[in-house]
Amino acid sequence: MEFYFMYILMGIILLPGLIYASVVSAKVNSAFKTYSSVCSSKGITAKQACEMILRNAGVNDVKIVEINGHLTDNYNTSNKTLSLSQSVYNSTSISALGVAAHEAGHAIQHAEGYAPLKMRHAIGTLSNFCSSLLWPLLIIGIVLSCLSMFEWGDIFLWGGVGFFGLAVIFSLITLPVETNASKRALTCLVNSGALDQTEVRGAKVVLDAAAKTYVAALVVSILNLIRFVLAVLLTRDR
Ligand SMILES: [Zn+2]
Repeated sequence: MEFYFMYILMGIILLPGLIYASVVSAKVNSAFKTYSSVCSSKGITAKQACEMILRNAGVNDVKIVEINGHLTDNYNTSNKTLSLSQSVYNSTSISALGVAAHEAGHAIQHAEGYAPLKMRHAIGTLSNFCSSLLWPLLIIGIVLSCLSMFEWGDIFLWGGVGFFGLAVIFSLITLPVETNASKRALTCLVNSGALDQTEVRGAKVVLDAAAKTYVAALVVSILNLIRFVLAVLLTRDR
């Protein structure tokens, strides 16, 4: 009876996280769409806003380029390139300026040596490595358990879950980095003169919605971790 309960729990445990992630994603798209139709009163494009923000912050060595895709905007610390997506680059909408300013916020974090960004960069590879160990270790653990080598099986099973847990802990560093970039973006948009105080409220709605996607991803990761713990407990008890 307990087994059945655990199996059902494993199946449904991810559901609230997936629903939350879908709702958050829908809200981001909705907020972006709403403020995509509201143009900034000064008619400044997202690219120009980035240039103004970076110049104001004394950052002069960042290249701004246009890339394909929808909301694929990013800042690359390794080559100091700020990439803006096609729907953002030449747009004068409040959504586009908000997204572009957020990426400029990352460029300023990089130039200032903002510690959480450095930390995210440093542990990024380690985090990917830890989460990539999950399945190989789980599979080895299951094979060993099937061969009645339970003690070794347990070591590999819990090892896999442990490494995945570490990856989840490492991913926490994303939250302060993203929140700080958005906070900088809103201040810089006003200080650079790209948006006025009223317009920047729209940019805040877009960036607040986008920030929740990182929270949703973290929630899904934590629920997945719980699922793997339950799966290991089930494998061991069999
Ligand atoms: Zn970001």
